[in-house]
Amino acid sequence: MQNNFGHIAVLTVWADNCSEQFKSRYQLGWSVLYVNKTTLQVIHLFFFCPQHGKGPPDGLGGNCKNAIKAEEKFRRHLPAAIDVYLWLEQNFTVVQSPGSGLFSIRKRIFRFVPTGIVPKHHIIDSTEFSGISTLYAFAVTKGPPVGRVYHRFTSCDCESCSVGVFDQCLNQEFLGAWSDRFLAVTEDIQPTIQEELEAQIDNQLDTYRRSNLSPFFVMHVQKGCDSPSIAMVTSESV
Ligand SMILES: [Zn+2]
Repeated sequence: MQNNFGHIAVLTVWADNCSEQFKSRYQLGWSVLYVNKTTLQVIHLFFFCPQHGKGPPDGLGGNCKNAIKAEEKFRRHLPAAIDVYLWLEQNFTVVQSPGSGLFSIRKRIFRFVPTGIVPKHHIIDSTEFSGISTLYAFAVTKGPPVGRVYHRFTSCDCESCSVGVFDQCLNQEFLGAWSDRFLAVTEDIQPTIQEELEAQIDNQLDTYRRSNLSPFFVMHVQKGCDSPSIAMVTSESV
């Protein structure tokens, strides 16, 4: 799930300008690694200008927060993320006033991503990226050289830029050429829950192997399979 995007080759992320959360060398470092770990070909990171006004997408998040606050104040506490998700899914998918035009919102769809499902590629160090605050468009493409980051003042969704052929931007005359520079990134990959589970089972099997108890039953999860199985194991078959 986390690495296979199916037929999607290009991921475009539009985000607020906030350097704490989004626009940082760590975020760029994550992108240069991530594009090579997934089936994606290009990742665009586009940022809104500072002091931009709030629009319907901001309102969408605000509406959900207010609805949850009201539920908590007048009815019941929603202690965990899963409770919030289930409540929203049951009570908040229908949009009362969808609006019109580009940002018309017809239905709210929620997805719950349990902790541990998304691998954490924690960037522990990355080359400085001076002048990052004055740029609003970044992009990375799959393949060597890893670490190459394209950047420009403005974003572009022309036919060339959208597929990662930045030197043939159709709007170059107005927007100027893309520049690039290289980031050297050090990462700390934290295992997913499934990987941890597999490691634990390997350890347990090892303990059983060294004990003289047999036969015994073990619950195991095969690599690449989500559901556990039960097997009877003897000292010969371990
Ligand atoms: Zn372009």
